[in-house]
Amino acid sequence: MINVTKTFLPPIDEYQHHVQRAWKNEWLTNRGELVLELEENLKKYLSVSNIIITNNGTIPLQIGMKLLGKGGEIITTPFSYVATTAAIVWENCTPVFVDIHPEYLTIDETKIEAAITPKTTAILATHVFGNPCHLEAIEAIALKHNLKVIYDAAHCFGVTYNQKSVFDFGDMSTCSFHATKLFHTAEGGAMFCNDAELFKQLYYSHNFGHKTNIDFHGIGINGKISELQAAMGLAVLPHMDLILTERKKVVDYYNLHLNFSKLKGLRIRENTQWNYSYYPVIFETESVLLEVEQKLNALKIFPRRYFCPSLNTIEFTNGKPMPISESIASRILCLPLYVGLSTPELDLIIATINTNQ
Ligand SMILES: *Cc1c(COP(=O)(O)O)cnc(C)c1O
Repeated sequence: MINVTKTFLPPIDEYQHHVQRAWKNEWLTNRGELVLELEENLKKYLSVSNIIITNNGTIPLQIGMKLLGKGGEIITTPFSYVATTAAIVWENCTPVFVDIHPEYLTIDETKIEAAITPKTTAILATHVFGNPCHLEAIEAIALKHNLKVIYDAAHCFGVTYNQKSVFDFGDMSTCSFHATKLFHTAEGGAMFCNDAELFKQLYYSHNFGHKTNIDFHGIGINGKISELQAAMGLAVLPHMDLILTERKKVVDYYNLHLNFSKLKGLRIRENTQWNYSYYPVIFETESVLLEVEQKLNALKIFPRRYFCPSLNTIEFTNGKPMPISESIASRILCLPLYVGLSTPELDLIIATINTNQ
Protein backbone atom coordinates (compact mmCIF):
# COMPACT_ATOMS: atom_id res chain seq x y z
CA MET A 1 0.00 0.00 0.00
CA ILE A 2 1.27 3.46 -0.92
CA ASN A 3 -0.22 6.32 1.07
CA VAL A 4 0.07 10.04 0.52
CA THR A 5 2.75 10.06 3.19
CA LYS A 6 4.62 7.70 5.48
CA THR A 7 5.77 8.81 8.90
CA PHE A 8 9.55 8.99 9.18
CA LEU A 9 10.59 6.65 12.00
CA PRO A 10 14.10 7.14 13.36
CA PRO A 11 16.11 4.03 14.33
CA ILE A 12 14.32 2.79 17.45
CA ASP A 13 17.46 2.76 19.60
CA GLU A 14 17.81 6.51 19.01
CA TYR A 15 14.26 7.03 20.27
CA GLN A 16 14.86 4.67 23.20
CA HIS A 17 18.00 6.56 24.16
CA HIS A 18 15.92 9.70 24.74
CA VAL A 19 13.04 7.80 26.37
CA GLN A 20 15.54 6.33 28.83
CA ARG A 21 16.50 9.85 29.84
CA ALA A 22 12.87 10.48 30.82
CA TRP A 23 12.91 7.23 32.86
CA LYS A 24 16.10 8.28 34.59
CA ASN A 25 14.64 11.71 35.38
CA GLU A 26 11.32 10.11 36.43
CA TRP A 27 9.75 13.10 34.71
CA LEU A 28 7.18 12.74 31.93
CA THR A 29 5.70 16.18 31.30
CA ASN A 30 5.45 19.83 32.46
CA ARG A 31 8.33 21.08 30.34
CA GLY A 32 11.01 18.65 31.42
CA GLU A 33 14.59 18.34 30.26
CA LEU A 34 13.71 16.79 26.88
CA VAL A 35 11.13 19.43 25.97
CA LEU A 36 13.57 22.21 26.88
CA GLU A 37 16.35 20.56 24.88
CA LEU A 38 14.10 20.09 21.84
CA GLU A 39 13.12 23.77 22.00
CA GLU A 40 16.80 24.79 22.06
CA ASN A 41 17.67 22.43 19.18
CA LEU A 42 14.74 23.70 17.11
CA LYS A 43 15.69 27.33 17.70
CA LYS A 44 19.13 26.57 16.28
CA TYR A 45 17.89 24.42 13.42
CA LEU A 46 15.22 26.91 12.34
CA SER A 47 17.22 30.07 13.19
CA VAL A 48 14.38 31.53 15.23
CA SER A 49 14.74 33.37 18.50
CA ASN A 50 11.57 32.11 20.19
CA ILE A 51 9.56 28.91 20.23
CA ILE A 52 7.04 27.23 22.50
CA ILE A 53 6.38 23.62 21.59
CA THR A 54 2.86 22.40 22.19
CA ASN A 55 0.78 19.23 22.22
CA ASN A 56 -0.48 19.72 18.64
CA GLY A 57 -0.76 22.31 15.89
CA THR A 58 -4.38 23.23 16.60
CA ILE A 59 -4.06 24.52 20.19
CA PRO A 60 -1.64 27.30 19.05
CA LEU A 61 -4.27 28.46 16.54
CA GLN A 62 -6.90 28.52 19.27
CA ILE A 63 -4.58 30.37 21.66
CA GLY A 64 -3.81 32.87 18.88
CA MET A 65 -7.50 33.40 18.19
CA LYS A 66 -8.24 33.80 21.90
CA LEU A 67 -5.50 36.39 22.45
CA LEU A 68 -5.57 38.27 19.14
CA GLY A 69 -8.96 37.53 17.55
CA LYS A 70 -10.91 38.80 20.55
CA GLY A 71 -14.30 37.64 19.26
CA GLY A 72 -14.11 39.72 16.09
CA GLU A 73 -14.18 39.01 12.39
CA ILE A 74 -11.14 37.12 11.16
CA ILE A 75 -10.07 37.38 7.55
CA THR A 76 -9.01 33.92 6.48
CA THR A 77 -8.38 31.54 3.62
CA PRO A 78 -10.94 28.98 2.46
CA PHE A 79 -8.13 26.72 1.22
CA SER A 80 -6.54 25.06 4.24
CA TYR A 81 -7.07 22.20 6.62
CA VAL A 82 -10.34 22.41 8.58
CA ALA A 83 -8.44 23.22 11.82
CA THR A 84 -7.71 26.75 10.56
CA THR A 85 -11.39 27.69 10.30
CA ALA A 86 -12.48 25.55 13.23
CA ALA A 87 -10.07 27.40 15.55
CA ILE A 88 -11.74 30.69 14.58
CA VAL A 89 -15.26 29.44 15.21
CA TRP A 90 -14.21 27.52 18.37
CA GLU A 91 -12.96 30.79 19.89
CA ASN A 92 -16.23 32.58 19.08
CA CYS A 93 -14.76 34.63 16.29
CA THR A 94 -16.31 34.89 12.81
CA PRO A 95 -14.44 33.67 9.74
CA VAL A 96 -14.60 36.05 6.79
CA PHE A 97 -13.23 34.26 3.74
CA VAL A 98 -11.13 35.85 1.04
CA ASP A 99 -10.53 33.82 -2.12
CA ILE A 100 -7.11 32.43 -3.03
CA HIS A 101 -4.56 33.09 -5.73
CA PRO A 102 -5.10 30.45 -8.47
CA GLU A 103 -1.40 29.50 -8.71
CA TYR A 104 0.18 30.13 -5.30
CA LEU A 105 -3.03 28.82 -3.61
CA THR A 106 -2.52 31.21 -0.68
CA ILE A 107 -4.99 33.95 0.29
CA ASP A 108 -5.28 36.58 -2.47
CA GLU A 109 -3.79 39.64 -0.80
CA THR A 110 -5.36 41.97 -3.39
CA LYS A 111 -8.84 40.99 -2.14
CA ILE A 112 -8.21 41.38 1.60
CA GLU A 113 -8.94 45.09 2.02
CA ALA A 114 -12.43 44.78 0.53
CA ALA A 115 -13.31 42.28 3.27
CA ILE A 116 -12.23 44.47 6.20
CA THR A 117 -15.02 45.92 8.38
CA PRO A 118 -14.96 47.78 11.73
CA LYS A 119 -15.31 44.36 13.40
CA THR A 120 -12.19 42.88 11.80
CA THR A 121 -9.53 42.13 14.39
CA ALA A 122 -7.08 39.80 12.67
CA ILE A 123 -5.96 37.95 9.57
CA LEU A 124 -5.40 34.18 9.89
CA ALA A 125 -3.73 32.97 6.70
CA THR A 126 -2.17 29.62 5.81
CA HIS A 127 1.17 29.17 4.05
CA VAL A 128 -0.46 26.27 2.28
CA PHE A 129 1.79 23.31 1.34
CA GLY A 130 4.68 25.35 2.77
CA ASN A 131 4.20 28.09 0.15
CA PRO A 132 4.38 31.49 1.87
CA CYS A 133 1.56 34.01 1.57
CA HIS A 134 2.41 37.44 0.14
CA LEU A 135 4.10 38.47 3.39
CA GLU A 136 4.90 42.10 2.51
CA ALA A 137 1.41 42.92 1.23
CA ILE A 138 -0.28 41.36 4.25
CA GLU A 139 2.04 43.20 6.63
CA ALA A 140 1.24 46.52 4.93
CA ILE A 141 -2.53 45.91 5.09
CA ALA A 142 -2.31 44.90 8.76
CA LEU A 143 -0.33 48.05 9.63
CA LYS A 144 -2.71 50.31 7.73
CA HIS A 145 -5.84 48.83 9.36
CA ASN A 146 -4.35 47.97 12.74
CA LEU A 147 -4.97 44.24 12.44
CA LYS A 148 -3.13 41.31 13.98
CA VAL A 149 -1.63 38.67 11.70
CA ILE A 150 -1.47 35.00 12.58
CA TYR A 151 0.05 32.55 10.15
CA ASP A 152 -0.99 28.93 10.14
CA ALA A 153 2.45 27.64 9.17
CA ALA A 154 1.62 23.99 9.91
CA HIS A 155 3.33 22.93 6.66
CA CYS A 156 6.34 25.22 6.92
CA PHE A 157 9.02 23.40 8.89
CA GLY A 158 12.34 24.72 7.55
CA VAL A 159 10.84 27.08 4.94
CA THR A 160 12.65 30.38 4.50
CA TYR A 161 11.62 33.53 2.67
CA ASN A 162 14.44 35.91 1.71
CA GLN A 163 16.72 33.70 3.82
CA LYS A 164 14.59 34.25 6.91
CA SER A 165 12.41 31.63 8.61
CA VAL A 166 8.75 32.09 7.60
CA PHE A 167 7.95 31.54 11.28
CA ASP A 168 9.42 35.01 11.87
CA PHE A 169 6.60 36.83 10.06
CA GLY A 170 3.29 38.14 11.38
CA ASP A 171 2.44 38.69 15.04
CA MET A 172 2.69 34.94 15.52
CA SER A 173 3.04 31.73 13.55
CA THR A 174 2.03 28.19 14.37
CA CYS A 175 3.38 24.84 13.22
CA SER A 176 2.23 21.22 13.45
CA PHE A 177 4.49 18.33 14.41
CA HIS A 178 1.81 15.72 13.66
CA ALA A 179 3.07 12.35 12.40
CA THR A 180 1.99 13.21 8.84
CA LYS A 181 3.99 16.43 8.80
CA LEU A 182 7.60 16.91 7.64
CA PHE A 183 9.16 17.01 11.11
CA HIS A 184 7.14 15.28 13.80
CA THR A 185 6.80 14.32 17.44
CA ALA A 186 3.89 11.89 16.72
CA GLU A 187 1.50 14.59 17.97
CA GLY A 188 2.84 18.06 18.58
CA GLY A 189 3.16 21.60 17.36
CA ALA A 190 4.69 24.98 18.08
CA MET A 191 4.06 28.70 18.36
CA PHE A 192 6.52 31.38 17.27
CA CYS A 193 6.39 35.06 18.12
CA ASN A 194 8.96 37.85 18.19
CA ASP A 195 7.12 40.30 20.45
CA ALA A 196 8.31 39.75 24.03
CA GLU A 197 5.00 40.75 25.62
CA LEU A 198 2.85 38.54 23.36
CA PHE A 199 5.34 35.71 23.76
CA LYS A 200 4.82 35.80 27.53
CA GLN A 201 1.05 35.66 27.07
CA LEU A 202 1.35 32.73 24.66
CA TYR A 203 3.57 30.96 27.15
CA TYR A 204 1.17 31.48 30.07
CA SER A 205 -1.79 30.48 27.90
CA HIS A 206 -0.33 27.07 27.05
CA ASN A 207 0.17 26.27 30.75
CA PHE A 208 -3.28 27.04 32.24
CA GLY A 209 -2.30 30.68 32.76
CA HIS A 210 -0.07 29.73 35.73
CA LYS A 211 2.00 32.56 37.22
CA THR A 212 2.96 30.53 40.28
CA ASN A 213 1.37 27.37 41.68
CA ILE A 214 -1.37 29.42 43.28
CA ASP A 215 -1.56 32.50 41.10
CA PHE A 216 -2.70 33.06 37.48
CA HIS A 217 -2.15 35.54 34.67
CA GLY A 218 -5.56 34.92 33.19
CA ILE A 219 -7.35 32.08 31.47
CA GLY A 220 -5.23 29.36 29.90
CA ILE A 221 -5.44 25.86 28.51
CA ASN A 222 -3.30 22.74 28.57
CA GLY A 223 -1.10 23.03 25.49
CA LYS A 224 1.91 21.20 26.92
CA ILE A 225 3.74 18.42 25.13
CA SER A 226 5.12 15.40 26.99
CA GLU A 227 8.70 14.18 27.38
CA LEU A 228 7.88 11.06 25.36
CA GLN A 229 6.83 13.18 22.39
CA ALA A 230 9.88 15.41 22.79
CA ALA A 231 11.98 12.21 22.74
CA MET A 232 10.58 11.46 19.28
CA GLY A 233 11.40 15.00 18.13
CA LEU A 234 14.96 14.71 19.45
CA ALA A 235 15.36 11.41 17.56
CA VAL A 236 13.87 12.73 14.28
CA LEU A 237 15.62 16.12 14.11
CA PRO A 238 19.14 14.80 13.32
CA HIS A 239 17.65 13.11 10.22
CA MET A 240 16.15 16.27 8.71
CA ASP A 241 18.88 16.64 6.07
CA LEU A 242 18.20 13.11 4.83
CA ILE A 243 14.43 13.68 4.94
CA LEU A 244 14.73 16.85 2.85
CA THR A 245 17.19 15.35 0.35
CA GLU A 246 15.08 12.25 -0.21
CA ARG A 247 11.87 14.22 -0.58
CA LYS A 248 13.52 16.61 -3.03
CA LYS A 249 14.46 13.60 -5.19
CA VAL A 250 10.81 12.49 -5.31
CA VAL A 251 9.63 16.03 -6.14
CA ASP A 252 12.25 16.39 -8.89
CA TYR A 253 11.19 13.03 -10.35
CA TYR A 254 7.53 14.01 -10.47
CA ASN A 255 8.46 17.38 -11.98
CA LEU A 256 10.50 15.70 -14.68
CA HIS A 257 8.17 12.85 -15.64
CA LEU A 258 4.59 14.01 -15.12
CA ASN A 259 2.95 15.34 -18.26
CA PHE A 260 1.99 18.93 -17.51
CA SER A 261 0.18 19.66 -20.77
CA LYS A 262 -3.18 19.53 -18.95
CA LEU A 263 -2.09 19.07 -15.35
CA LYS A 264 -0.97 22.00 -13.17
CA GLY A 265 1.49 21.99 -10.28
CA LEU A 266 1.99 24.33 -7.35
CA ARG A 267 3.73 27.63 -8.08
CA ILE A 268 6.22 28.31 -5.32
CA ARG A 269 6.55 31.96 -4.35
CA GLU A 270 9.70 33.72 -5.50
CA ASN A 271 12.59 34.05 -2.97
CA THR A 272 11.36 31.00 -1.08
CA GLN A 273 13.44 28.04 0.02
CA TRP A 274 10.67 25.44 -0.03
CA ASN A 275 10.58 22.22 2.06
CA TYR A 276 9.07 19.57 -0.29
CA SER A 277 6.23 19.04 2.16
CA TYR A 278 3.46 18.13 -0.32
CA TYR A 279 3.12 17.38 -4.01
CA PRO A 280 -0.25 18.71 -5.17
CA VAL A 281 -1.42 18.42 -8.77
CA ILE A 282 -4.48 20.16 -10.21
CA PHE A 283 -6.54 18.33 -12.85
CA GLU A 284 -8.65 19.97 -15.56
CA THR A 285 -11.90 18.74 -14.02
CA GLU A 286 -13.08 16.93 -10.90
CA SER A 287 -14.24 13.98 -13.00
CA VAL A 288 -10.71 13.45 -14.34
CA LEU A 289 -9.44 13.60 -10.75
CA LEU A 290 -12.00 11.01 -9.63
CA GLU A 291 -11.11 8.71 -12.50
CA VAL A 292 -7.38 8.93 -11.77
CA GLU A 293 -7.98 8.50 -8.04
CA GLN A 294 -10.02 5.36 -8.67
CA LYS A 295 -7.34 3.87 -10.93
CA LEU A 296 -4.64 4.62 -8.33
CA ASN A 297 -6.77 3.18 -5.51
CA ALA A 298 -7.20 -0.02 -7.53
CA LEU A 299 -3.39 -0.27 -7.49
CA LYS A 300 -3.45 0.28 -3.70
CA ILE A 301 -2.11 3.81 -4.10
CA PHE A 302 -3.88 6.37 -1.93
CA PRO A 303 -3.22 10.03 -2.70
CA ARG A 304 -5.25 12.52 -0.64
CA ARG A 305 -7.62 15.30 -1.59
CA TYR A 306 -5.87 18.04 0.39
CA PHE A 307 -7.81 20.31 0.81
CA CYS A 308 -11.36 19.45 -0.07
CA PRO A 309 -13.96 20.81 0.44
CA SER A 310 -13.28 24.52 0.29
CA LEU A 311 -13.80 25.67 3.90
CA ASN A 312 -16.39 28.34 3.04
CA THR A 313 -18.76 25.50 2.07
CA ILE A 314 -18.73 23.60 5.34
CA GLU A 315 -21.83 23.82 7.42
CA PHE A 316 -20.50 25.76 10.45
CA THR A 317 -18.84 28.56 8.49
CA ASN A 318 -21.64 30.26 6.55
CA GLY A 319 -19.18 31.51 3.99
CA LYS A 320 -19.90 33.39 0.80
CA PRO A 321 -19.03 31.60 -2.48
CA MET A 322 -15.28 31.45 -3.18
CA PRO A 323 -15.11 30.45 -6.86
CA ILE A 324 -11.34 29.94 -7.16
CA SER A 325 -10.93 28.02 -3.92
CA GLU A 326 -13.99 25.86 -4.64
CA SER A 327 -12.75 25.07 -8.12
CA ILE A 328 -9.20 24.22 -6.96
CA ALA A 329 -10.46 22.20 -3.98
CA SER A 330 -12.52 20.01 -6.31
CA ARG A 331 -9.60 19.34 -8.68
CA ILE A 332 -6.51 19.05 -6.48
CA LEU A 333 -4.83 15.84 -5.38
CA CYS A 334 -1.70 15.41 -3.25
CA LEU A 335 0.49 12.62 -4.59
CA PRO A 336 2.51 10.23 -2.41
CA LEU A 337 5.69 11.89 -1.13
CA TYR A 338 7.93 10.39 1.53
CA VAL A 339 11.37 9.03 2.28
CA GLY A 340 11.68 5.56 0.76
CA LEU A 341 9.18 5.92 -2.10
CA SER A 342 10.90 3.85 -4.81
CA THR A 343 11.43 4.66 -8.48
CA PRO A 344 9.20 1.76 -9.69
CA GLU A 345 6.45 3.00 -7.35
CA LEU A 346 6.86 6.54 -8.70
CA ASP A 347 6.81 5.25 -12.28
CA LEU A 348 3.52 3.46 -11.63
CA ILE A 349 1.92 6.59 -10.15
CA ILE A 350 3.21 8.78 -12.97
CA ALA A 351 2.14 6.35 -15.74
CA THR A 352 -1.35 6.09 -14.25
CA ILE A 353 -1.73 9.86 -14.19
CA ASN A 354 -0.16 10.50 -17.59
CA THR A 355 -2.35 7.95 -19.38
CA ASN A 356 -5.63 8.99 -17.74
CA GLN A 357 -5.81 12.76 -17.86
C1 LIG B 1 -2.08 19.59 10.31
C2 LIG B 1 -2.65 20.97 10.23
C3 LIG B 1 -3.15 21.63 11.36
C4 LIG B 1 -3.39 20.95 12.67
O1 LIG B 1 -2.28 20.42 13.24
P1 LIG B 1 -2.45 19.23 14.31
O2 LIG B 1 -1.04 19.07 14.81
O3 LIG B 1 -2.94 18.02 13.55
O4 LIG B 1 -3.37 19.68 15.37
C5 LIG B 1 -3.55 22.96 11.24
N1 LIG B 1 -3.49 23.60 10.06
C6 LIG B 1 -3.04 22.99 8.94
C7 LIG B 1 -2.98 23.76 7.67
C8 LIG B 1 -2.65 21.64 8.98
O5 LIG B 1 -2.26 21.03 7.86
